[in-house]
Amino acid sequence: MNTVYPLVEKFISINGEGPKAGMMSAFLRMKGCNLSCSYCDTSWANTPDCPCEMLSADALIRWLKESGTANVTLTGGEPLLIPDIASLIEQIGAAGFAVEIETNGSVSLAPFCGLSHRPAFTMDYKCPDSGMEEFMDLDNFALLEEQDSVKFVVSSEKDLDRAAEITRKYSLSQRCRVYLSAVFGRIEPRSITEYMISHQWNDVRLQLQMHKFIWPPQQRGV
Ligand code: SF4
Repeated sequence: MNTVYPLVEKFISINGEGPKAGMMSAFLRMKGCNLSCSYCDTSWANTPDCPCEMLSADALIRWLKESGTANVTLTGGEPLLIPDIASLIEQIGAAGFAVEIETNGSVSLAPFCGLSHRPAFTMDYKCPDSGMEEFMDLDNFALLEEQDSVKFVVSSEKDLDRAAEITRKYSLSQRCRVYLSAVFGRIEPRSITEYMISHQWNDVRLQLQMHKFIWPPQQRGV
């Protein structure tokens, strides 16, 4: 059977976040998510009636090769819940692309860590203000490697306190990169910076969602 994958968007842009921030990447946004974060800016992609293209791995790889990019970012929604997604990751990796997965922290990474083309994970940790913290899969922390990252999306000082507590408790900075990212419009990056300075917090990085500064913050497909 030739699996097809539900894409609500595919586009070439620069990576706005993570270790490859500022580098060109092809974004494949998969339909659907198991969470419902209070600040979700892609909730339109998570509804059952959201229109999508159903594309095979072969068709996607053809499009990726034509795009001229070396990097591919699988995002959503929650891409790891898409049936047979491991096969797509393997095939894109085997075609020579560097694959990064943006995942929401609630899905086990274990089935994907043994792939012959193991992707780099950018895993969210949903802080209290998201309303989704109870769904975080804490076993994932033990699976993270140097090329991976954990991103705390923060809305408030309470979220920053939790990010600091989790980073310490699981020694995250010794495993991978750790980022603090502001919920756009809810907390100023300056407040995060001041928190880092006042708490002498050296082993995390503030991250700005670059694409929201280049294009209008609500613009899709960038
Ligand atoms: S995990 Fe991401 S896509 Fe899903 S509801 Fe939260 S912010 Fe939206």
